[in-house]
Amino acid sequence: MSELRWHPILEEWVITATHRQDRTFLPPDDFCPLCPTKPGAFPTEVPAEDYDIVVFDNKFPSMKHPAPMPGIEGTNLYKVRPADGICEVVSYTSRHDGTLTDMDLPGMRNLVDVWTDRFKDLGGKDFINYVLIFENKGKDIGVTLYHPHGQIYAFPFIPPKVQKELDSSEKHKGQTGRCLFCDIIAEEQTDGRRIVAENDSFVAAVPFFARYPYEVYIFSKKHHQTMLTFDDEERADLANILKVVLLKYDNLWGISLPYMMIMHQAPTDGRDHDYYHFHIEFHPPNRTEKKLKYIAGCETGAGSYINDTLAEEKAAELRAAEPSTVESTYLVLEG
Ligand SMILES: [Zn+2]
Ligand SMILES: [Zn+2]
Ligand SMILES: [Zn+2]
Repeated sequence: MSELRWHPILEEWVITATHRQDRTFLPPDDFCPLCPTKPGAFPTEVPAEDYDIVVFDNKFPSMKHPAPMPGIEGTNLYKVRPADGICEVVSYTSRHDGTLTDMDLPGMRNLVDVWTDRFKDLGGKDFINYVLIFENKGKDIGVTLYHPHGQIYAFPFIPPKVQKELDSSEKHKGQTGRCLFCDIIAEEQTDGRRIVAENDSFVAAVPFFARYPYEVYIFSKKHHQTMLTFDDEERADLANILKVVLLKYDNLWGISLPYMMIMHQAPTDGRDHDYYHFHIEFHPPNRTEKKLKYIAGCETGAGSYINDTLAEEKAAELRAAEPSTVESTYLVLEG
């Protein structure tokens, strides 16, 4: 059972996915569905003894294709439509333990290629208007499997947060003739206090407007709408800055920092979104090593975030965490 229900007040789709209640929740290590199938053991999602990166359909998808007919009839006010989309799982490695941070640079570079391929393939489908690549990491974010993995949701509609970003960038372009994100990058670089890491192709910053204490945005320096236009050097540079940001996160307090990692790219609805700009957002829930920021009444009820910290101070902490210099964010290729 899965359908889209229209929220007439917020004017956005809500996905109902009741079958997901039964999904695998933190299984014992012997029964991890993302581990390779071992001889004589129970079959996992991966019928191979070993693998680098593997992508497969989510067994408990919020959306699928072809979608089942909605279980309820809509009205004029309460519109209903099939949840016609695709949900995939990207298992980063055959190794059960560890996190994306542990992946070596060639592996990270490989992952950038996998993301690019999946974005191209899913975005090329006529019923897919938006492809969201993301990762929920850590039990504080509510992951149901510890095995290092990310997800891809291919939506039949443009999700509301992305639509809001599209609207603001289109407006900014109309008013100034410039890209909103290019202007943000320039402002961050001029000020400098909120920059966390930088290389030839990307810049990472706790932006001026951060809603979470350790929120980091990675922007492409060139005005790209999606990963599809990255050249080889940019793909390698993305792998590099991702590794640097992930290491900084874990070295901050010597714990594996939980986060939501979200990749924002232009929609794949066949329209031109040349005013939009590729970026990755990290939203870690931690305020301190032990304390979490809760999305509470003011955030949920009013949509207004309260950040108890200053972006300038949090960026300085991340900048100081190893690998420590902004200028030398190029890690030496391992192996
Ligand atoms: Zn596993
Ligand atoms: Zn731009
Ligand atoms: Zn964004």
